[in-house]
Amino acid sequence: MQFYSTNKSVPNVSLKQAVIKGLADDKGLYMPERIDPMPSGFFENISNLTFSETALAVAKKFFGEDIPDDKLKSIIDQTLTFECPVHEVRPDISALELFHGPTLAFKDVGARFMARLLEYFLGDNDKEVNVLVATSGDTGSAVANGFLGVSGIHVYVLYPKGKVSEIQEKQFTTLGQNITALEIDGNFDDCQRLVKSSFMDKQLQSHMVLTSANSINVARFLPQSFYYFDAYRQLKKAGLDKELVFAVPSGNFGNLTAGLFAKKMGLPVKRFIAANNENDVVYEYLQTGKYNPRPSVQTIANAMDVGDPSNFARILDLYNHSWKNICDDISGVRYSDDEIRATIKDVYSRDKYVLDPHGATGCKALIDGMKPGETGVFLETAHPAKFMTTVEPLVGKGNVPVPERLAKFMEGIKVSIPLSKEFKDFKDFLLNI
Ligand SMILES: *Cc1c(COP(=O)(O)O)cnc(C)c1O
Repeated sequence: MQFYSTNKSVPNVSLKQAVIKGLADDKGLYMPERIDPMPSGFFENISNLTFSETALAVAKKFFGEDIPDDKLKSIIDQTLTFECPVHEVRPDISALELFHGPTLAFKDVGARFMARLLEYFLGDNDKEVNVLVATSGDTGSAVANGFLGVSGIHVYVLYPKGKVSEIQEKQFTTLGQNITALEIDGNFDDCQRLVKSSFMDKQLQSHMVLTSANSINVARFLPQSFYYFDAYRQLKKAGLDKELVFAVPSGNFGNLTAGLFAKKMGLPVKRFIAANNENDVVYEYLQTGKYNPRPSVQTIANAMDVGDPSNFARILDLYNHSWKNICDDISGVRYSDDEIRATIKDVYSRDKYVLDPHGATGCKALIDGMKPGETGVFLETAHPAKFMTTVEPLVGKGNVPVPERLAKFMEGIKVSIPLSKEFKDFKDFLLNI
């Protein structure tokens, strides 16, 4: 399978090149040249499959020409060592819980898949690949844990000093081995700028192989379609698969775009709701047809604090830049921190379900926007215990369960390298490793 750039001014590349490069040279995002539908029999039989079997059938459509079936199966089996259960919150609203992986956020699925795929492609190649990842919290921990111990790859996590929660910091600063945490004296935008500047620096490019593990990378992005199919599998089994509406808490829009890919492949989804916090540039686009990126503002759903979502380019490309066609499939909502807090409180007192601030935007989108006859599923993208200081006061002390592995991370000892936000310092650091 070949991959083209959304900016369409560079030649197509192979899957391997797309994964190793991350971003195309014209700064476009890679897209698969075809999105093949699943055969209709697949959906009729889907309730007889397991999560891994469902994922493998989907994965073959994107990766099957480049990776032998047995290898792809082993990559998937190593990725999906946990379930993503559908949990009924109200009779017509369910949560697709994507937080049962090692770092308790949905990014585990894509990060673990990408690590194994990259490992496969590097094979016996003796040149080490360096993964640079800027994080405001969740991406760094998922990528660091996904790539931990994978040979031939070293991960550098850049994070803003004093701006991530203690538990998030512990999840990528206590690992050691092939994971190095860089504590940048700046904000998230500074971290992202350092990473982007490195990809464009000729001297660094000739010194070392650098790639990105953000959702711009097809290897992290495409596996996110697996759990939409799996949600359908579970709902069909329960007889709840009619007029399916997915509400997706969105920041960089990788998760939602993966759902759109699933729909293109024939998954019976009626429509999507893009749930935003106060970072609402896509909400505004859906209302007006005008896209005006702007600096992000800080909210309690901080993994969605994005002012210029990178995967928006993929949505435009998928719908041939037609605002009307986009609006046929996606509507938008936007919630303030107060509305998010009120939702966590109300859903707990009414349904005894503990939401995290991100999932809460999706849940509220369904409560507010479902039409008669529809079945609503929101993506619960992180475990509420990761946002204890926000969630616990709303649901009451002792009511947020803390998974054992989260407590384990807290016992580790933080090791990080402090750096200024100047590109020169970061570049010197990279040139000397
Ligand atoms: C990353 C993240 C999001 C946003 O996902 P996108 O694919 O960037 O839209 C939402 N919730 C949580 C908990 C996240 O970590």
